[in-house]
Amino acid sequence: LGRRISTALHDVTRAPNLDEKAFKAMLNEISHALLEADVNVKLVGKLTNSIKTTVNFKDLPPAVNKKRLIQKAVFDELVKLVDPHAEPFKPKKGKSNVIMFVGLQGAGKTTTCTKLARHYQARGLKACLVCADTFRAGAFDQLKQNAVKAKIPYYGSLTETDPAVVAKEGVEKFKKERFDIIIVDTSGRHRQESALFQEMTDIQTAIKPDETIMVLDSSIGQQAESQAKAFKDAADFGAIIITKTDGHASGGGAISAVAATHTPIVFIGTGEHMLDFEKFAPQQFVNKLLGMGDMAGLVEHVQSLKLDQKDTIKHITEGIFTVRDLRDQLNNIMKMGPLSKISGMIPGMANLPGMDQMDNEESSAKLKRMIYVCDSMTEKELDSDGKMFVDQPTRVIRVARGSGASVREVEDLLSQQRMMAGMAKKMGGNMKNMQRAQQAM
Ligand code: GDP
Ligand code: MG
Repeated sequence: LGRRISTALHDVTRAPNLDEKAFKAMLNEISHALLEADVNVKLVGKLTNSIKTTVNFKDLPPAVNKKRLIQKAVFDELVKLVDPHAEPFKPKKGKSNVIMFVGLQGAGKTTTCTKLARHYQARGLKACLVCADTFRAGAFDQLKQNAVKAKIPYYGSLTETDPAVVAKEGVEKFKKERFDIIIVDTSGRHRQESALFQEMTDIQTAIKPDETIMVLDSSIGQQAESQAKAFKDAADFGAIIITKTDGHASGGGAISAVAATHTPIVFIGTGEHMLDFEKFAPQQFVNKLLGMGDMAGLVEHVQSLKLDQKDTIKHITEGIFTVRDLRDQLNNIMKMGPLSKISGMIPGMANLPGMDQMDNEESSAKLKRMIYVCDSMTEKELDSDGKMFVDQPTRVIRVARGSGASVREVEDLLSQQRMMAGMAKKMGGNMKNMQRAQQAM
């Protein structure tokens, strides 16, 4: 889907004379791509009509940048499709919030319920897991392993065969223990079948969840719409989690599921690890879908933030990277937000000690400490290449004291700066050579 839409966009935006004919052809192509991905026919019609109205060729003064306007209209309309503007469930304070997971076997329920429990736990809520999957042998074992790894309390039974009974026992136990979040994992089946839907209803009746979440494998593609609808009818879920977005799926399935059920996607799974879990961001999602890559969004995002880049870029082309440059870059990352993705795009940043193993909160706390370290330095130290810290180790100790960081943390920061200075030296040298070569030509 992504490739087809982006090709359509690209072709029309490349055309030297952007005329009405080319525009219509592009709309046609986009409609076909969306229909192929099982997006509801009516929705596709609405989408193309909206784009037509926004980009009204006849009334547009010639100076208007039509290409940009079209890109923006397509982007905005797709964002509207995946963003149902329905408020997702928010756990209430001071009570036990019961969340039930539903979805087909292999969708990623058991993996994702641990991710979600960990997510809440990291935010200071008491979270726990209940295994109501008595259908699949080994289901409880799998949940237990995940829960132990994440240090999350769990409940399940090896002998009770009625999932509604186990679910009720677990929920009652944890309610008594005043847990904030009780997540109930259920069994799936390979196909949608009445036994599964009956089981879901039985469990819902037994535990009366505050929220039901449907877990949907992003590679489901064509069946997404009918599957989401069937589950919505049977279990009236209020939120969707899309898993395996790290795979090759186009994402068309997610659009269809949201469109078919008017239910918001709340999180996405981005890998098998417990921390591979992100809040769903419609704009980012559509960027990826359109094949513009995260880079396009990032460039726009970065431009809108008015970051301190100029000096650093100038420095790098001169083969220099000072401690101040590092601090400016750290400040920039702080401004940009979601760290795990963005830091990977800035050379060297993904290599910060331990950065890749932490989630956003932990790494932004770490980032803040690094900025405090820089703030405890003198102007002279900031503008230096860091060598004076090696020559006079008392400087390191002074900065550590002043910032409340450990000596080790100050040293880590300086070694990061040294590494980047080394990279800058190479890059700057290359750029100079390139300039010389160009001048010689
Ligand atoms: P369940 O049957 O719905 O409980 O699904 P499981 O939680 O057992 O997951 C099925 C498989 O999908 C397991 O091998 C998981 O590791 C894998 N999985 C789950 N979520 C993700 C994800 O976001 N990305 C990737 N790559 N694999 C995932
Ligand atoms: Mg499972």
